Amino acid sequence: MQFTTLNNGVAMPLLGFGVYQIPAEDTERAVSDALAAGYRLLDTAAAYGNEEAVGRAIKSSGIAREDLFVTTKLWVQDAPAEDNTRRAFETSLNKLGLDHLDLYLMHQPFGDVYGQWRAMEALNREGGTRAIGVANFYPDRLIDLIVNNEITPAVNQIETHPFFQRAGYQDLMHAHGVRIQSWGGFAEGRNGLFTHPVLAEIGEECDRSVAQIVLRWLTQRGVIAIPKSVRPERMAENIDVFGFELTDEQMARIATLDTGGSLFFDHHDPEVVSWLAKRRLDV
Ligand code: NAP
Repeated sequence: MQFTTLNNGVAMPLLGFGVYQIPAEDTERAVSDALAAGYRLLDTAAAYGNEEAVGRAIKSSGIAREDLFVTTKLWVQDAPAEDNTRRAFETSLNKLGLDHLDLYLMHQPFGDVYGQWRAMEALNREGGTRAIGVANFYPDRLIDLIVNNEITPAVNQIETHPFFQRAGYQDLMHAHGVRIQSWGGFAEGRNGLFTHPVLAEIGEECDRSVAQIVLRWLTQRGVIAIPKSVRPERMAENIDVFGFELTDEQMARIATLDTGGSLFFDHHDPEVVSWLAKRRLDV
């Protein structure tokens, strides 16, 4: 496994396993299979409803805590956000059966972002989580958060895949010490990703699958990837991406696939904002 170093010196695997949309009843098995396949970075969220199952798989794996990198995410909190963030964090930690997190992310750039972030800074200083970061922050919101707070987010987890590549934003983030992490690295298969002719052609040249080409392309750019699969054979395929390299010419061909826009939702769309911000979790 290759690692990247976060802005506070913490080492984070460049490739991990995401559990979004895995039903709670299937998650323990999926995470156990992923750990057996060699994944050590696990990405869940309070909003996914499967933290307890992730925790059970961690416990039964017998893998030393220091060898794992566990991320979960804070959902949008009502005011007073500082109290509620702390309670949400404790709830997640209890469900996971852990005494600390490796990375705690603010899941959405909505609600009392500043109250949430101050609480996350305190949790980080107290050692409750080794690093803190954000998700779904567009450049304006990210820079605002950085310039008006003490701790710079270690990570921004954003939609990043061959059809929405984020190269310019990645440069901006790295200039500020924020690592980019891809969600939806396969675009969940949208736009015919797994059979796309350009990706398939490069796959043939490298004797690799399209999924492996995409994950190699992400990690070769320094983007942290967390592919999701419930199938052990795909888990094995998806983690086997460090034994080959894409040429500059192959990277350039993939760069042509960028559409510059989301395939999922726009965090600037008022309807999306009110839909996401209205959802509340019982913590
Ligand atoms: P994804 O990883 O882009 O795609 C997952 C889909 O690809 C599943 O349908 C999976 O099917 C299929 N797949 C996986 N490996 C494959 C392979 N080798 N060949 C063919 N198909 C394959 O989607 P995602 O789950 O949305 O994103 C990844 C992770 O990012 C999530 O699990 C979550 O941890 C995180 N995320 C975060 C946010 C956020 O707001 N912060 C949003 C979305 C996702 P099978 O399972 O049947 O194999």
